[in-house]
Amino acid sequence: MPNAHYKGWLMTDDQHPVLQDSNGLYGDRKSLEPLMRSILASVPDAMIVINASGQILAFSAAAERLFGYTAKDIAGKNVSILMDDNHRTHHDQYIDNYLITGEKQIIGIGRIVEARLADGRVIPVELKIGEAEIDGERLFTGYIRDISEKQANALRLNEMQVELANFSRLSAVGTMASAMAHELNQPLTAVANYLEAARDLLNNADADTLAFVQEALDAAANQSIRAGQIVRRLRDYVSRGELDMRPVSLPELIEDAASLAKVGIEGQLARVIARVPDGFPRVLADRLQLRQVIVNLVRNAIEALSDTHNPQIWISAERNEDLAIITVEDNGPGFASGEDASPFDAFNSTKPGGMGLGLSICQTIMDAHGTVIQYAPSDKGGAAFKFTLRLDEGAQEDA
Ligand code: ADP
Repeated sequence: MPNAHYKGWLMTDDQHPVLQDSNGLYGDRKSLEPLMRSILASVPDAMIVINASGQILAFSAAAERLFGYTAKDIAGKNVSILMDDNHRTHHDQYIDNYLITGEKQIIGIGRIVEARLADGRVIPVELKIGEAEIDGERLFTGYIRDISEKQANALRLNEMQVELANFSRLSAVGTMASAMAHELNQPLTAVANYLEAARDLLNNADADTLAFVQEALDAAANQSIRAGQIVRRLRDYVSRGELDMRPVSLPELIEDAASLAKVGIEGQLARVIARVPDGFPRVLADRLQLRQVIVNLVRNAIEALSDTHNPQIWISAERNEDLAIITVEDNGPGFASGEDASPFDAFNSTKPGGMGLGLSICQTIMDAHGTVIQYAPSDKGGAAFKFTLRLDEGAQEDA
C-alpha cells in the first residue's frame, strides 16, 4: 500500500489491525481507505488518532504542517513526543488512570496545553479529545489548534476583552483611590467643623444655642453619611461585582495559566514546573481571577529570569488542614527591595514599559477571596509569592 503518496495517511494493513476490520463498522477496507485519506488530508485542525497505549495511528496533513513531522515518520511512535516535558512523563499514566477509573480529565473538554514541535519549539495549543471504542479497542482522537501568536489573539480575544475590562477597572484603583481620598476629605473636614462648633456652643448653653447645636449635629450626621456613600462607591468599584466561586482543579488551572503567561514573551522562556500532589482536592476560587493571578506571577517571574542561567519557575500546592497553600517561586534575582518598598505597591515597576500594577491586581483579587498574598525571598534563590485558598468542602479527591 503506497502510503507515502497520501499526505496525512499512515495506516498499513499489518500495523493497525483495527482498520483492517471489515465487520461493517468501518465498511470494507477498500471503501474505508479513500474516506480516511480524504478526512486526514482535509480536516482543518491537526488531528491525531492514538490507541490506548498512546501509539500514534493517524496523523492529519494539518498535523504534519503544525508539528513538522511527516505522518510516515511519526507512525507508531508514542504521542508523548509531541508534548512538553511536564506532560510527557505523565501522559501514559493519564490514559491508564482514565482506563481504570473512567474519570475524564480532558476528554470532551477543550484545554490549553503545550505542544512540542519537531524543531524543539514549544507552543500553546488548544486540545480537544474525542474517544471511540472500536471492537473493544479504545481509540482517542485529538484535535489540536495552534493558539500562539495571531491565533491566540483571535481565539482569546473575546474572553480577554471581558477580563481586560474588569481588570483595567482594578488597574485604575490607584488613581481612583487618590481621587476618593480627596473627595472624602471634604465631608470629613465638614464633620469636624460642625462638631467643634457644637462643642463651643455648649459652653454657653441656652434654648437658642441648643437649637444651633442640634442643627450642627444634624449637618455633621449628614456629612458622615455622605462620606460613607463615597466609601461604598469605592468598594463597589473595586470589587468588580460578584466573585464566581467554584471548585477549581489546580493542575488544569496552572497549566492553562502557564501557557497563557508565555504567549507573546520575547526572549528566554523559563521552564515551569507544576508540583501539585496527586489527588490534591479542588480549591474554592473564581477561576478566571485565580488564573489571572498565576498568569501575572508567572509572567513576572519569566521576565525576572530573562538573564538567569537555567531559568525555572515552580508552582506548588501543599495542604494545611482545610487550606491549600500555593507558592509561585523562581530562581531569578528576587525582588530588589528598596527602603520600605513592597513589590505590591501600585505603580512601582523596574521595567521600562512596566505599569507596576500586576502585583497590586493579584493583591486585590486575593483580598476579594478573603485571603492575602505575600512575598518572601525564595530558598531557590529568587522570589516566592505565597497565598492560601480554601479547599472545596467535602471535596472528592481528584483522581
Ligand atoms: P510590572 O510587571 O508592570 O512591573 P508588577 O506589579 O507585576 O508590575 O511588578 C512590580 C515589580 O516587582 C516589578 O517591576 C519587579 O521589579 C518586581 N517583581 C515582580 N515579580 C518579581 C519576581 N518574580 N522576581 C523579581 N522581581 C519581581
